[in-house]
Amino acid sequence: MEGKGLIMKINKERLKTNIEDILKIKYGKTLKNAKNHEKFNALSKSIMLLITDNWKESLNTYSKGKQAYYLSAEFLMGRALGNNLINLGIYDEIKEVLNEMDINLNEIEEIEEDAGLGNGGLGRLAACFMESSATKNLPVTGYGIRYSYGLFKQKFKDGFQIEEVDNWLKYGDPWSIRREEESVIVNFKDGKVKAVPYDTPIIGYGTKNINRLRLYKAEALQELDLELFNEQEYEKAARNKNKAEDISKVLYPNDTKREGQLLRLKQQYFFVSAALQDMINKFKENHGSDFSKFKDYHAIQLNDTHPVVAIPELMRILIDEEGLDFEKAWDTVHNVFSYTNHTILREALEQWDVDLYKSILPRVYQIIKEINKKFIKELGSLGYGYERINSMKIIYKNRISMAWLAIYATHATNGVAKLHTDILKYQELKDWYEIYPERFLNKTNGITQRRWLKLCNKGLSNLITKLLGGDEWVTNLTMLKNLEKYKDDEIVLNKLLEIKHSNKERLAKYIEENEGIKINPNSIFDIQIKRLHEYKRQLLNAFHILDLYYRLKENPDMDIEKRTFIFGAKAAPGYFRAKGIIKFINEIAKLINNDKSINNKIKVVFVQNYRVSYGEKLFPAADISEQISTAGKEASGTGNMKFMLNGTPTIGTYDGANVEIVKEAGEENNFIFGAKVEEIEKIKDTYNPKKYYEKVPGLKKVVDTLINGTFDDGDTGMFEELYTSLLEGASWHRADNYFIFKDFDDYRKAQNKVDVEYKDRLSWAKKCLINIANAGKFSSDRTIMEYAKEIWSIDSRKIK
Ligand SMILES: *Cc1c(COP(=O)(O)O)cnc(C)c1O
Repeated sequence: MEGKGLIMKINKERLKTNIEDILKIKYGKTLKNAKNHEKFNALSKSIMLLITDNWKESLNTYSKGKQAYYLSAEFLMGRALGNNLINLGIYDEIKEVLNEMDINLNEIEEIEEDAGLGNGGLGRLAACFMESSATKNLPVTGYGIRYSYGLFKQKFKDGFQIEEVDNWLKYGDPWSIRREEESVIVNFKDGKVKAVPYDTPIIGYGTKNINRLRLYKAEALQELDLELFNEQEYEKAARNKNKAEDISKVLYPNDTKREGQLLRLKQQYFFVSAALQDMINKFKENHGSDFSKFKDYHAIQLNDTHPVVAIPELMRILIDEEGLDFEKAWDTVHNVFSYTNHTILREALEQWDVDLYKSILPRVYQIIKEINKKFIKELGSLGYGYERINSMKIIYKNRISMAWLAIYATHATNGVAKLHTDILKYQELKDWYEIYPERFLNKTNGITQRRWLKLCNKGLSNLITKLLGGDEWVTNLTMLKNLEKYKDDEIVLNKLLEIKHSNKERLAKYIEENEGIKINPNSIFDIQIKRLHEYKRQLLNAFHILDLYYRLKENPDMDIEKRTFIFGAKAAPGYFRAKGIIKFINEIAKLINNDKSINNKIKVVFVQNYRVSYGEKLFPAADISEQISTAGKEASGTGNMKFMLNGTPTIGTYDGANVEIVKEAGEENNFIFGAKVEEIEKIKDTYNPKKYYEKVPGLKKVVDTLINGTFDDGDTGMFEELYTSLLEGASWHRADNYFIFKDFDDYRKAQNKVDVEYKDRLSWAKKCLINIANAGKFSSDRTIMEYAKEIWSIDSRKIK
């Protein structure tokens, strides 16, 4: 199947020799006694060897014109090997070569650690954008942090989440190259730190272009203070080194919740300052020192507020180091930067204490103050009064609001789905939209079909290529629309069901091996995988399962399809409630899975350590996609798109990109339920969850299991706290803040509809096919081209 329009020619014998040579010089081993991770490293390095010339050529070509830079504190890349082989068009060929060497490619792929340098959707979006940029030959560089430890590894013990460090570099990282000579120094008030770049190639599909992800590691300027060491003050000697290295040591495991720590601020400034210095150095090298031209060569995207300190930092560099005046520097900054907003959750809007900024970045703080002054003047001249100005000021009550700084300083602010952008424009940021309407844009998120279909679902990919008479869809996903003509073709629909079934068998086998639970591939696989957060409402799903269980107990002959409810989610370690929800679902699983009387009609599995590579097995095996956030809370979602692309109907609310998904694929091919944004807005101030709790049949019974001894939370108080949050609320929120009770009955109805409609297998398969056929819009190729054209003004540049 591979190899059409081959970009890369493989010399088989040479490749074999390379692998063996690398095993020899790196590990002193031969094929016979090398471990799998050693073979993985040797193979990966041999692939690196194949691409270095094209990589260099790409960077050289890009350096001549305007480029875009994607600044992100997170890149959730997952595994590289399989994806790189697919994108180079050499997957099948390499598999063959390895076979001849008695190596199983699949086993080698499975040994690779995920690069888990991100929390969830935001970090995975950055990864998809990198891949799409390369595929589209766009001159885009990613800048971020090379965390020594990525997002924690999750295990369950007695149903509780346990976190373990993610030592992803333990076997080395063959996909990166350390660029010592391009290190720069980052200055904090309490000392200097060296930022050492590690470059990873981003291989596009079906193109020679290779892009770059540059991640910085923090190191001490001086490896060791010899003087102290000689005086035998070992601890002191090591202290400086540790203090520096701590900056890039670990990813903050928060998702949407802000983290107000000194180290976090240091991380942000560290990578942003290093990235800007890098751009300045290259600009001088390639274009001289006329900084009025800087904006003609640079577009810098700020992925959420985490890198927003880049705004005052570039001001500082231009003013203090390059001698521009404030207004000229401002003009450059305004033209160069743009900002993506990822959330409207209040607790996620990043604010920093003035004192903290002053204590480590005094000059940067001064510049923020200047910007704030300029802004207040502008607002004053527009005739706004005190109150309005206070609500928009960048510095207010000793806090710096990074989102306000971003919107004011940049030329473009974008939301990540149409509904989200509308909520920004007409609700959350309406004061801003009124003043700067031209700055607000929508860029609906996307996913790369190379990883999220071609790599992870080879059966479906091959079928699509066969039906479409070619694989153009791999780089032009709207081609999938042509599948719609098979919507009544029974042979195709049966083939689709067959592929889904074999993906479910693969997942069942993996789950049995990894979780020790047997599941039935003939049951409906109902899957909710995403970070654990109250607004995502895993608890709503859990309540429904429990309700279904109790109904089954009452009526054992109830005619329902067998169903396996699968969850995957990490909870931020300090997020007590999220951890309580994990424990609750695990308790439900224990109860249901051990109850022989229901004849295995339903089962519940919470898989451990959900991550990109687990997702690659889960998405293709799903029958129903759970996207049930409270309307207005999920900015876009991208998991929803991965399911759709793999032929899975959505059960979901009118939220985020779900709205666009059902617009494309039709409401009749999905299961939409629940209150819409307008309704939530209308009822939110008078909402009384107790009314639903008392009246909706079955609801009280499942909610009360949190406190009536049905389940054991190990005396942590977790379950009671959940119960209270739903019925009484807390100091910081109303009761049932996410309207679970309100939507419960409607959700149950939608679930019943799923059960009924699944019975007609062919008509179900038709829904699956129509979802696939209309997933074209959700390619990150489309998204990144919109950024390139409408925000960055950059063009594709293909190397020869
Ligand atoms: C796609 C993805 C996400 C985002 O999922 P949502 O359902 O959009 O929140 C999170 N984590 C991983 C590992 C992913 O692959």
